[in-house]
Parts: sequence; structure tokens; C-alpha cells
Amino acid sequence: MSMEDPMTVYLTTTLPFVNARPHLGFVLELVQADVLARYLRGRGAAVRLHTGTDDNSLKNVLAAETAGVGVREFVDANAAAFTALAQPLSLSIDSVIRTSADPRHRPGVEQLWRAGAAAGDLYRRHYEGLYCVGCEQFYTPGELVDGRCPDHGTAPQPVAENNWFFRLSRYQDEVRRVLTDGTVRIEPIERRNEILAFLDAGLEDLSISRSVARARGWGIPVPGDATQVVYVWWDALANYITALGYGTDETELQRWWIGADRRIHLVGKGVLRFHAVYWLAALLSAGLPLPTEILVHDYLTLDGKKISKSTGNVIDPLDLVEKYGVDAVRWWLLREPPRLGDADFTEARLVHRADDELANGLGNLLNRTVSLVHRKLDGRAPSTNSLGPQSEKLYEALAAADARIESALGDYDFRAATEAVRAIVAAANRYVNDIRPWEFDAGHPDLEAVLATLWESCRAIAGHLTPFLPDLAARVTAQCTPTPTGRVPLPRPVQRRLGAA
Ligand SMILES: [Zn+2]
Repeated sequence: MSMEDPMTVYLTTTLPFVNARPHLGFVLELVQADVLARYLRGRGAAVRLHTGTDDNSLKNVLAAETAGVGVREFVDANAAAFTALAQPLSLSIDSVIRTSADPRHRPGVEQLWRAGAAAGDLYRRHYEGLYCVGCEQFYTPGELVDGRCPDHGTAPQPVAENNWFFRLSRYQDEVRRVLTDGTVRIEPIERRNEILAFLDAGLEDLSISRSVARARGWGIPVPGDATQVVYVWWDALANYITALGYGTDETELQRWWIGADRRIHLVGKGVLRFHAVYWLAALLSAGLPLPTEILVHDYLTLDGKKISKSTGNVIDPLDLVEKYGVDAVRWWLLREPPRLGDADFTEARLVHRADDELANGLGNLLNRTVSLVHRKLDGRAPSTNSLGPQSEKLYEALAAADARIESALGDYDFRAATEAVRAIVAAANRYVNDIRPWEFDAGHPDLEAVLATLWESCRAIAGHLTPFLPDLAARVTAQCTPTPTGRVPLPRPVQRRLGAA
């Protein structure tokens, strides 16, 4: 990788249905994607972070009917609520698509359809099945729990109609091959193994259209068949390339898909099959490159219960940001959910993390450092190249942080990556507690070197923190940057405590 030719990375989130306002579970995915994007940009990569909304769903139509609002008005309002997350959550999003409104999307979906037809992969037949609108997918009786959707607990609707099918069965061996030979990496590995087991059970061809009547006229018409609209998942998956101009102007497609070094999809565990089987088969059929990585996160629960609009168990992410600040919200989302397994959110846990690790940990270190610079050096930035006494362990921790964070993010392990940052803050606090520089006289021979060590540590910590908490990192850097007159800004807390002492 040379300076002239940086690594090119296309990074996507899934597109949420806009049947409701955004919940914290989707924000988890957005924040994870943002961290990876910021981290890779910091390493010199050219990154395009893409997200959007999945507008063309029957689920959206039904929710609009329930709300007594026109579908267009309803979808526009909820899509706007998703777009409005970017600024308060400090998300560095480069590209947003709305599948019902972006002029590039429909021609791209039509192009993908024609590519499948040209490959001999599409055919029409009568179909009867059990459909969950909540999931927007058919279930086999064996996949149901007591006759109900395993995800929604509702009885699926029997559907009998003439649909277009995609010859998914044809791709069983090739999908298995790309998932096992390193072409497409799924993390964590447990999730890849689930998909391999699904493949071993045998793939059936996939219905990829709906009657216009059942779709209530909402969706993208099947090319050449006015009685059908494209299955919402087939339409939604295509967004990853239609947003780059597939089927319209393919300049961006060349750069960010075909020519990219890494094509990374972030997905929740519930939609992995769509990405790791159906989407791969669609791309193989169309002769397009596959994603290089599919990174799978689990779910959040809220006070021990599944986040669900129907039970009212939801929390508005923007209310949390308003109440606790973006750093505290991002920190909890990155710090607590394990790599595998659900995580339970409570406000008390968020407050505890932020108080313990941001206010007491980092805030305390920075406050003491800047206060000492003011009291002992009269607000002049410490300037010496000599190492502080007994600083070997601290420098070792700082030197190791880079590799620890790189390895953790390489494993898609945000908890381990943020733990690496927490660990260097702890090492720096231990150092200042051991040395006790506040007891030094103004003429103490080690004073300048100790303060320089702390000062440089704070700046290095801010650098490591940047992809995770860009706002807090910027405030730490500002506190450790002399003004044009050479004065260090007066100490101020970078992170206030949120809970009771
Ligand atoms: Zn369902």
C-alpha cells in the first residue's frame, strides 16, 4: 500500500425498515460502522461509509395504514428520523440511500433483475407458503415455533400466488465454497458456522416477487411483468450497489465495489442469511465481486426484555444523547456488548461506564495533568525529550495500544478495542499516583520530564480514542494544545460525572 494508492474500503450498514422510528439496536450498528470507518481513514484508507432506509416494505405500508397516514408521508417522516441520527451521534456517514426515493435505485434493481434473467436464474411458478410480514420472509413449518414466527411470535399468513423465483439451489456449492475458502469472511466464526449448517440442509429456490395486490401497489415493479413487484429484500440488498450507480452511472461502482480492496457489510444476526446466502448468490448470478467481509452483531435488550415497539419497550437514542451526551452513549455501545451474545442496556449501566471510565478515568488524568502544568509550569506546555522516571511501564502500555486496537478491530471486537484504550488511561493514572508530582517543588529535577510524560500520554490517548469517541478525543486534544500565545488552556472537566457520587 503506497501513499498514492491508499486502500479503498466500502463499508455498509443494513437498511432499516422505516415502519417505526430508529431504536438503539440499529444505533449500535451505525456506531460500530462509524468506528471502523474512522479507524481505517486514520490509517490512510479511502473509506465510503454507506447507510440508508428500506422504504419498499409491506411492513411500512401496514404501519402507515395503522397510523392513518399516506405511505409516502409516513415513510418520509420515519426516514428523516433515521437521517437525523448522524449529527447528534457524530456519525461520519458518506452516503445515504432511500430505496423509494433515490433515482439510481430502481434502474439498478431492474438491472440486477435482468442480469439474473440473462443468467437463466429466474422463472415463474405457483407458490404457497407462510409469510411473516414483520420479517418480510417466508417460513417453512419446521422453522416456526408452535406455528408462530420465531422472531415476532405472530402467526404467519398463508400466501398462495404466482411468483418469480430465483434459482438459489444452483448456488449452494459456490456459496459454500466462498464462505470456506476465505473469499468472504464472516465474523464471528460461530455465525459463519450457522450459515454453513443452513447450506448443508439444502437451499430451495427463492421467491423474489410479490403480487401487486399483496404489496398494495407499493414497491418496484418487476421488469416486463406489471402484475408483480420485486421482493423487498431483493430490492433492499441491491442498494449496496445501486447506491454506487449499478445500472446507471457506474463510475462509483468501479471505484467502491469492483475496484475496492475491502467490501464490508455490517449486519444484525437476524438478517445474516439474506446477506451471506441470498445476496452472495445474486452477485454470483450477476457476475459481480462479492463482499470481502460480513460482520455480525447480536441484539440489545432493554432492562432484560427484547426491544419491541409492540410492547412499548423502546428507547429513543436521541433522548439518551440529550440526557447523557454522545460520548457516554457511544462508549456504552462499544464497551459493553460482547462479540457474541446479546447485551442488556440500562441507563444505570451507561452512567456507571461513563462515570467510571470517562469522568473518573480519563477526565481525572487530564484534569490532573493540565492543573499541574498550570500550577508547576505556570501554564507553559512541558517541553523536554527526556523520559520521566519510572515511566517504562507506561511507555510500554502506550506502545502496545496500537497493536492491541488493530488486532481487536480486525476481529470485530469493539469491547476489546475500547478495553485497550481504557488500559492505557489506567496505566497513566497509576503512573501519576506513583510519582505524586503534585508534591514536587518548582525546581525539582524530574518535574519537567514527568509533566511531559503525562502530557504526551494524554495526547496519545486522545489519538487512540478518536475513532471511538471523536468528540471527547477532540476536547482532550484541545486541552493539551497550547494557544498561539504558548499558554495551555485552563483545566476544565472533559467529561462530567453523570450519576450520583
Ligand atoms: Zn417475523
